Amino acid sequence: MKNYVYFFGGGKADGSADMKNLLGGKGANLAEMNHLGMPVPPGFTITTEVCQHYYNCNQNFPDELGTQANKAIGKIEEIMGAGFGNTDNPLLVSIRSGARQSMPGMMETVLNVGLTTHTIPGLIHKTNNDRFVYDAYRRLIMMYADVVMEKASRKEPEEDSGIRQRLEKIMEEHKTEKQYTTDTDLTSDDLKMLVNVFKKEISDVLGEEFPDNPTEQLWGGIKAVFQSWNGTRAVNYRRIENIPSEWGTAVNVQSMVFGNMGEDSATGVAFTRNPATGESKFFGEWLSNAQGEDVVAGIRTPNPLNEDTKTKDTKNIISLEMAMPNIYKKLTDIRINLENHYTDMQDIEFTIQKGRLWMLQTRAGKRNGAAAIKMAVDMASEGLINKRTALKRVNPEQLDELLHPMLDLKSEKRATLIAKGLPAGPGGAVGKIVFTADDAELWHNRGEKVILIREETSPEDIHGMHAAEAILTAKGGMTSHAALVARGWGKCCIVGCGDIHINTKKREVSMGKTILKEGDWITMNGTIGKVYTGKVELIPSDPDTHVEYRTLMKWADEIRQLKIRTNADTPKDAAQAINFGAEGIGLCRTEHMFFDESRIMAIRKMILAENKSERQSAVMELLPFQKEDFRGILKEMGEKPVTIRLLDPPLHEFITLTEDQIGDLAEHIGQNPSNIKKRISNLHELNPMLGHRGCRLGIAYPEITQMQSRAILEAAAELTKEGISVSPEIMIPLVGTFTEFLDQEAIIRKVAKEVLKETKVEFNYTVGTMIELPRACLTADEIAESAEFFSFGTNDLTQTTYGFSRDDIGSFLPDYLDRKILSHDPFQSLDVAGVGKLISMAVKLGRGVNPELKIGICGEHGGDPASIQFCKDNGLDYVSCSPFRVPIARLAAAQAEL
Ligand code: PEP
Ligand code: MG
Repeated sequence: MKNYVYFFGGGKADGSADMKNLLGGKGANLAEMNHLGMPVPPGFTITTEVCQHYYNCNQNFPDELGTQANKAIGKIEEIMGAGFGNTDNPLLVSIRSGARQSMPGMMETVLNVGLTTHTIPGLIHKTNNDRFVYDAYRRLIMMYADVVMEKASRKEPEEDSGIRQRLEKIMEEHKTEKQYTTDTDLTSDDLKMLVNVFKKEISDVLGEEFPDNPTEQLWGGIKAVFQSWNGTRAVNYRRIENIPSEWGTAVNVQSMVFGNMGEDSATGVAFTRNPATGESKFFGEWLSNAQGEDVVAGIRTPNPLNEDTKTKDTKNIISLEMAMPNIYKKLTDIRINLENHYTDMQDIEFTIQKGRLWMLQTRAGKRNGAAAIKMAVDMASEGLINKRTALKRVNPEQLDELLHPMLDLKSEKRATLIAKGLPAGPGGAVGKIVFTADDAELWHNRGEKVILIREETSPEDIHGMHAAEAILTAKGGMTSHAALVARGWGKCCIVGCGDIHINTKKREVSMGKTILKEGDWITMNGTIGKVYTGKVELIPSDPDTHVEYRTLMKWADEIRQLKIRTNADTPKDAAQAINFGAEGIGLCRTEHMFFDESRIMAIRKMILAENKSERQSAVMELLPFQKEDFRGILKEMGEKPVTIRLLDPPLHEFITLTEDQIGDLAEHIGQNPSNIKKRISNLHELNPMLGHRGCRLGIAYPEITQMQSRAILEAAAELTKEGISVSPEIMIPLVGTFTEFLDQEAIIRKVAKEVLKETKVEFNYTVGTMIELPRACLTADEIAESAEFFSFGTNDLTQTTYGFSRDDIGSFLPDYLDRKILSHDPFQSLDVAGVGKLISMAVKLGRGVNPELKIGICGEHGGDPASIQFCKDNGLDYVSCSPFRVPIARLAAAQAEL
């Protein structure tokens, strides 16, 4: 017969810590704590298979479950010396969820199950405390009505009129009437009266009686917890955390122990190390005469666990160490025991009932980035784990927390969420809202912190984007202009925020029901794409002061095989990236070099030129700028390879102009505004992302390719002459056919010959291509005949493989994710099944022709840990990402080897 029920208690257990898939994290660890000889209230775990059965079989349980559960209850009764439903000496149980992966607060709990009008007298007799018993009863009624009778039965109350709110309101009114300030002021008579009023309210509102039968309560509770696996909160959480819904939750039924039985009782939570700093100090909070929910609810300020971790807010309240030294000593032994056993920081819950310590839970504790790094490195130094395990312990994304200011978690929890979008640039930011780039710069210059809100951004906005603390756009996807630019700077940015509607004329924006005016404060969490009203506290960043961060990075570099390069367009970004550990530039987008106000005119002039000679003169105007740029960047990088991509501007990014801008441009180039408008309209493209860009531009206007190669090669020659060795790699963009590559390569090689003749300086350079079109992947063997390197431009490759416009995906992606049509945004993490297949094929075809072919990736995926694993598995030589993602890529590349 299949085991659906796993018992634990009295130092024995059917399960163990390695059975998380079947017993959930909580159940597996309760079993394990029994094996470790720790005091755990006895109970049993109903397996996750039962949850799967429940959902697969029309919300029914397997036949054997009842018998197995009853047998387990018998064992609990034996250990506790009490009986479930026994009128003289009743046993009460808790019913809690427990999934494979912790989903804190996302599912339901029912406590004090087994209290009925029949068992109440027995418990009063046993505890000699009728106030305690009636308080437990009113808690049971409130929880049960809410969780079992309302939520699990899918009764959908109007907002704020759920049964729990109604009962709370009744209790609050009674407290006001009696002029009580806290729940503890309620006397047993008050509570006796309240439970009767509660029952009547439940019957009136829900049309059902609160059950007065312990078995009915038990199975109602178990069902409700399984039901909460598919509650809205749990479903949303799973979507965010990528937890499969097939896993199901386990249910733990466990003997109740009470922390609210008087001053010798207490309840608390603790971490075996500090989860905010990583320090190896036992850290936690407790409350005397209270139940677990009181600590979490934050109604009373909890006391500190020990003297060592007191803060200025808690220095005058008594610690557990002082109040109950014996118990504290036991708890510290358990702390050491647990850490040695699990070799990781544990988050524990405990209850002290009448001077006796009980452990209710242990699990790997959640920690912030800085703490995760410190703990991993410390534990390796202590010999608790090895270096490889230490490297695995830190989620690469957590490094972001050291690299950007982040929102203070506690303040964020209290903040009012007003909009959600795509998390394009990580970190937190607080600022006053403005709607134009000019205002952003103006306000910034007068010392204000601003957040720039735009429908979408264009190169025209660059100065305002730079001045702003953060950027918020209504449109755009993870590889839109705003996203790329912000990420390059490590700036907080949220894009594709469909919830916002901007009225630039009125200088206001609506976000859901909230209307905000220019100058109003907002806060953004770019790591998760959330926007809040007002100011939320920020925690500043400074990775270099973090000793353990440097150690962990050193360990990562020892192990990883993939090289890490960066996408950088300026010497400043390049220097930043080197600081973060970049080993080369994988993509220098030359069109980004023209974002600067003084240059954007020149590139517009070139794009709008009507004939070859006009274009030639515009192009030649750009030559000195370009040479200077390349000198700067090549000099900064020295011997490190620098991949410079020839011009690839999607035209709309440069010629979407306002009347004023057309006026300025007309003046600058001495043309009539109407002429310029005509030319813009001639150049208008329906699909600029698939239009006249990439090598198509250099093919139509070879003078551009000539000028750019000359600028690169002359800069390289000059630096070589000055004794600085450099290593430029010239990259031809958006190649779809071998012949396109040959056409552009010929121009570059010809210029190289000329430069060599003119300067008489020899240096190494290579010519390669981006692979960003499916056709390039399919014909990679042909291209590899001539190309010296491949760099996968997975932004465009994703766009062209799916046929999703990278700029417009924001309008439909949320639906795709909500309805699980896509499991994730393919512009953020590589679509291994489709785009990945093309990449694998191109690598094989390319290396088949040229085994030495250097291959990298420079799309945004180059900084995504899951995609980095794919790159390693497919034999790429390097990944290239924005400077602020370099440390993340270094760690992810090391993890890819483990
Ligand atoms: C790409 O397409 O992946 C790429 C890196 O180029 P861009 O984003 O500039 O089009
Ligand atoms: Mg591209």
